[in-house]
This record gives sequence, structure tokens and C-alpha cells, in this order.
Amino acid sequence: MIQIICGPCSAESEEQVLATASALVDIFAGRKDYRHIAYRAGLWKPRTRPGTFEGVGERGLPWLQRVRRETGLKVIVEVATAAHLEAVLKAGIDMIWIGARTTANPFAVQDLADVLKGVDIPVFVKNPLNPDLDLWLGAVERLEMAGIKDISVIHRGFSFYEKGRYRNEPKWQVPIDLMRKRPDLRILCDPSHIAGKRELLYEVSQMAMDLGFDGLFIESHISPDSALSDSEQQIEPGSLARMFDNIQIRSSVPEDEELSRRLQEFRARIDSLDDNILEILELRMGVVDQIGEQKRQSNITILQQQRWEEILEKTRSGALSRGLDPEFIEELFKLIHIASIKRQA
Ligand code: PEP
Ligand code: MN
Repeated sequence: MIQIICGPCSAESEEQVLATASALVDIFAGRKDYRHIAYRAGLWKPRTRPGTFEGVGERGLPWLQRVRRETGLKVIVEVATAAHLEAVLKAGIDMIWIGARTTANPFAVQDLADVLKGVDIPVFVKNPLNPDLDLWLGAVERLEMAGIKDISVIHRGFSFYEKGRYRNEPKWQVPIDLMRKRPDLRILCDPSHIAGKRELLYEVSQMAMDLGFDGLFIESHISPDSALSDSEQQIEPGSLARMFDNIQIRSSVPEDEELSRRLQEFRARIDSLDDNILEILELRMGVVDQIGEQKRQSNITILQQQRWEEILEKTRSGALSRGLDPEFIEELFKLIHIASIKRQA
């Protein structure tokens, strides 16, 4: 069963918080594949630039208590400072999450962990803004050392100066590595902060399901266009329900033997092709070493810009004629090229 945490980016008013909660409760009625484990709402909003809506603060706590009383939903809030955490604990909020900007700062995480000593509350840790797996794991470990038992992680993508298709680059390899290192942790994907636009929520959510994530952490607002924060990425509850209908949920282990035999055959072929790739790279690096020697003898620079342009052009058209994604091939050859330069240096 896919675990869902959803609710508005920010609590804006008591009416908005309650109306969104009750609309969300309705979309889960009769749904077998999804479970609404908590209702989210930010009270203190970490905003990149000042002068935008920074949240209602403690004023929103009674609104969330009311959601809990009236819908039976558990509620979850972001905490970034010891003062936020103390207020949230006093109000009996069920769960907390640590935001990307906070995870990036070990002092801030330690402050929270210190307050959490002896407190039994589920904590969700978002990845840091930068793609640093150790920093993410380090935050989890600080909480574990404070005695927190129920820890989950949330993948929300990473910020880069260059803007791509998404607001935050997913860099799926980072959560995949995390799953390998900590298979015991529940992992949710936050497609809202990755996508940045509601039209892209579906494809990001589907990718998370294809990778075997345990659930989704999604921003949903009763009237997204008038939302005070993250208006473009919030989705109205009815559209969220349609998205759930369209998402293909996959089981992580193949159920029948015939299928698992076929998968094994494919994997054996992939393994042998991967071996070929390694062998070709070994051969290529051998030639790189020989050219390196020539460059040294004739005292010319390792980087030959014109030749590099030629390789990029050639591999790009090669990619196109073979039905490969030219951007992927360009990335791949940039890596090969930089590794070749290092060998010659
Ligand atoms: C949020 O979930 O509202 C939020 C601010 O997210 P992040 O920390 O991922 O930017
Ligand atoms: Mn948000």
C-alpha cells in the first residue's frame, strides 16, 4: 500500500486548512492502494527571498488540532528551530518533518535532535539542498543517536544554478544509493518540490513508484491558484485523485516464477553487455594513454578544444541515429573525456 502525506504547502487560514483536509479525506474513501498517513501543512515557511509569505507560525497549530479532531487524520508540520519544535510538541502534533535547508546544516539538525531526546515522535527527513548523501544520512544518524525510532526520509530533489525541466533536479541515483545503504528506512518522494509545476507531478510520482518508493509527500490546496506559497506546484484534491487513478503501482518482487525466470535472462544479458562496456572503456583508455605520451613528447596541451568539439558533434549525431537520448550521451562523453584528461595529466 502506497503511503501518502498530503496537504497544503502552507496553512493560510483556518477555513483553507479545514476545507483542504476534508476534501482530501474524501479522495481516499474506498481507495485500496493508497493510505493517507498524515495531513501536511507548513507553519513556518523557509523562503528563499524575503518579502513573500513566511507562514502563519504558531497561530496555525489550533487549526491543525481541529483537523485532527474532526477528520481523525494525523498531522505533520515542518520544524526548523528548537522553538518551532517545542511549540509543535506542546500542541501534540503527531509527526514532524525536517526541511531541505535544515538538513543541510548539522548544527540545526543537532539542535533539533537535542530537543527530541526522550520524545517518541515519527520524524521525516528531507534530503539536503545539495546532492550529498552523507549529509542526508548524517541528519538521520543524529536523530537516531537522540533515540528517535521512527525515522523516514523524503526525496525532494536538489538545487542547481542551471534550471532544467524541474524546479529541483531529482538525481535519482542519490535516493537509489540511500536505499542500498539504508534499506531499513521508509522513503517517500516529494514530487511537488521536484516538479515545481503541477503538470509534471504525475511523471515524477510514476518514476518514484517505478523505483519502489514507499510513498509520496504531495502539496495539495483547495484552490491552488490563490495559494500564498508554491501556487504553481500545488494540486487541487480532485485532480490529485485523478492522478492516483492513473499511477501504475508496481510490486517490488516478481510474483510468478515464469516472470522471475524471464527477468533473470534479461539480467544475464545486461550483465554481459555491461562487461562489454567495461572492456571497450579499458581499450579506449589504453589508446588515451598512448596519445597522452605523444602529447607529452611534443609538449602540447592535453585539452585539444577542437578535437573535443568534434567528439561531441560525432557522438551527438551517432546518438540520434541510434535512437539514444543525445543529452544522456553528451553527459556520458563529458565524463569519459574528463577521465581521459585526468589520465593524461
Ligand atoms: C515544504 O515541504 O513545504 C518545503 C519547504 O520543502 P523543502 O524543505 O523540500 O524545500
Ligand atoms: Mn512548498
